[in-house]
Amino acid sequence: MPTITLIPGDGTGPELTSAARRVIEAAGAAVTWEVVEAGEKALERYGTPLPEEVLASIRRNRVALKGPLTTPVGTGFRSVNVALRQALGLYANLRPARTLPGIPSRYQDVDLVVVRENTEDLYAGIEHMVGEDAAESIKIITRRASERIVRFAFEYALAHGRHKVTAVHKANIMKCTDGLFLACARKVAEEYPAIAFEDRIVDNMCLQLVQKPELYDVLVMPNLYGDIISDLCAGLVGGLGVAPGANLGEEVAVFEPVHGSAPKYAGQNKVNPLATILSGVMMLEHIGETAAAARIRRAVERVLRAGKQVTYDLGGQAGTQEMADAIIAAL
Ligand code: NAD
Repeated sequence: MPTITLIPGDGTGPELTSAARRVIEAAGAAVTWEVVEAGEKALERYGTPLPEEVLASIRRNRVALKGPLTTPVGTGFRSVNVALRQALGLYANLRPARTLPGIPSRYQDVDLVVVRENTEDLYAGIEHMVGEDAAESIKIITRRASERIVRFAFEYALAHGRHKVTAVHKANIMKCTDGLFLACARKVAEEYPAIAFEDRIVDNMCLQLVQKPELYDVLVMPNLYGDIISDLCAGLVGGLGVAPGANLGEEVAVFEPVHGSAPKYAGQNKVNPLATILSGVMMLEHIGETAAAARIRRAVERVLRAGKQVTYDLGGQAGTQEMADAIIAAL
């Protein structure tokens, strides 16, 4: 039976991962859990937000389900999420955004997949003050990482019956960095004649996604644009409460919701567990527990269609655990 590393996370993370864990167990998935602490609790207890034991556990088990981790804004320690992705070589961030039944949204039939490069770009963390009144951040784009992420997007498209890959960039302005990304994308695209390829400048991409998301399929882009566009795509299908994600590398995979730790709601049994539950479903599909994954997807759809036992963001009054209970009852 596979062992999954479980990182409860900060803020609302513990209540969300506990809800997801209950649903996964109730679906009959054959998994055991190894719980390890990262983030604020680990900082208090071990003096570091990312103890070596966390990385060792994920490397050993190769699969993790993770709650969101809080990162201080502007000051304080570096993002643990970014450090974890870099330390484990989780180069691809996969964020599907698909319309689910019964969810209030301005858009119908959205079915997009954001593939975000996860290891470099402005997230390389090379920034510093230049004197007292200026600051500088260095954007790193490499041929290796760019070709690897675009190839990932095409392989994903092939494996999942997708028809088109769109590369997103700002190569008109950042001719060197984004220019390299775009050149790599065009070169890799030639290896996949069965899949259509096009590119969009990121500002135009935002406009297009808001006006006609149905024209797009798989989107691949550098780290920062991926962070922003995936929140935009979450907004097209009902918000952050329903958007799951996966961080994938050659060896290991870490599944987590797109949203953050929503600390203002921590401990209130209020926020939507679906993004974490659906991240768990992606995890089950990854490890081959496809029957349990399909059962959860069907149960989620039943609960959403009924529209009663859902959290505030979906127009309901259920708490986090009550929504998870409803999904368990529908399994
Ligand atoms: P956030 O995603 O935590 O929350 C923004 C807002 O989105 C919330 O106030 C809430 O209104 C809504 N929301 C988020 N999750 C929801 C859910 N499950 N159900 C219903 N509504 C939900 O973003 P933030 O406030 O910008 O960031 C909070 C912290 O999370 C920061 O420290 C940030 O660095 C961190 N963060 C972590 C990750 C991660 O762990 N991968 C990702 C993003 C942000």
